[in-house]
Amino acid sequence: MSRQNTAAGTGDSGDELLARYSDSLLGVFGTPQRVLVRGSGATVWDADGREYLDLLGGIAVNALGHAHPLITSAVSSQLSTLGHISNFFTSPPQIALAEKLLTLAQAPSGSKVFFTNSGTEANEAAFKLARRHGGTSRSRIIALENGFHGRTMGALAMTHKPSYREPFEPLPQGVEWVPAGDAAALRAAVDETVAAVIIEPIQGEAGVHGHPDGYLEQAREITRAAGALLIFDEVQSGIGRTGAWFASAPAETDAVIPDAMTLAKGLGGGFPIGAMLTFGEHASSLLSPGQHGTTFGGNPAATAAALATLDAIEAGDLLSQVRRVSAHAQQELEELDFVAEVRAHGLLIGIDIAPSLSGAPGEAPSAGGPSAAPAPAMVAAALEAGFIINATGPHTLRLAPPLITTIEQIQRFIDALPEIH
Ligand code: PLP
Repeated sequence: MSRQNTAAGTGDSGDELLARYSDSLLGVFGTPQRVLVRGSGATVWDADGREYLDLLGGIAVNALGHAHPLITSAVSSQLSTLGHISNFFTSPPQIALAEKLLTLAQAPSGSKVFFTNSGTEANEAAFKLARRHGGTSRSRIIALENGFHGRTMGALAMTHKPSYREPFEPLPQGVEWVPAGDAAALRAAVDETVAAVIIEPIQGEAGVHGHPDGYLEQAREITRAAGALLIFDEVQSGIGRTGAWFASAPAETDAVIPDAMTLAKGLGGGFPIGAMLTFGEHASSLLSPGQHGTTFGGNPAATAAALATLDAIEAGDLLSQVRRVSAHAQQELEELDFVAEVRAHGLLIGIDIAPSLSGAPGEAPSAGGPSAAPAPAMVAAALEAGFIINATGPHTLRLAPPLITTIEQIQRFIDALPEIH
């Protein structure tokens, strides 16, 4: 097997590269079906020259699509000026990004930002924040059923899915789950023994589920009354994805201000960066300097990419474009007879596929038959048809395309869906 340093797409075929991949990488999700070599806007190409409409955006990451000139020029100009410096130092883009994020999040005075390299790391920081707030008297952390917060030990301790957790137990203790969107259950669980409540305002990995109107406000009121921190995990739902800067601050509604918010994914426009925002003096004072840190967090190139991303979202009025494309997708997808439910929260879209009956109407689909898990089969068929999407469960597709995706592009996918199904 050749291991020479051939640049992807310049010599080897897709199959040859895939063989080298599976020989050399510890692939978390198994062998991918395509080797991608180039992207522009919402389009990507594989090593064999096939073209795809990227409706997954690197899992809700590529806010501006691929190879956006503002990001590439911001990063290249930053790297040619000052690259890595470590967290013993700071740099202008890091400071400007922190200020910008606090403004966008309507953070009160005394609020601060801690930069990380991923969403998981931001949630690790939030976990430590909760422990510092709880001390020895508040040992419980409340999270939501079906919630996802990452796969390192602290983040995993708050993630609900048993199949993710069980191989790694014992995890950090003290986390309990309540049903998502159920304010009465939250109220019953939260008392003065709770350090923090962590909520995804939209549960992305669970299949794109929002909460009933007023739930986040009630969570704010319940946690405040009990003296617990409220943490919003906006890693997937933040930075314009829902057509607002944050899902906890929807357009035309007052923002619900938490004690901490975690961000990543779309923030860097494709660069690895995450952040934990702490709101107000108390939350910001919990972690003393040196109690948490990371060598790469907030590095100049990643923060320059993030600043360029936020500027481009603003300059292009992308939040209103996201809302328009989302409303179109919701309406058109609902028309399809094999679609059971559509949950379009901006350009984070969950699509439940109705079970297609192989027997007579009214009969359950045969176990293990082709209709038992339509969504993963549709992901593979979509790829063949030139669309990148994914499945969050056997019956649920998820779209999280770049925020620059147009109505024409999303319609192209909707027109192809009957054939893909
Ligand atoms: N939190 C949420 C809500 C997520 O959706 C994810 C990733 O899907 C994470 C945390 C983990 O982020 P990362 O993959 O950047 O570590």
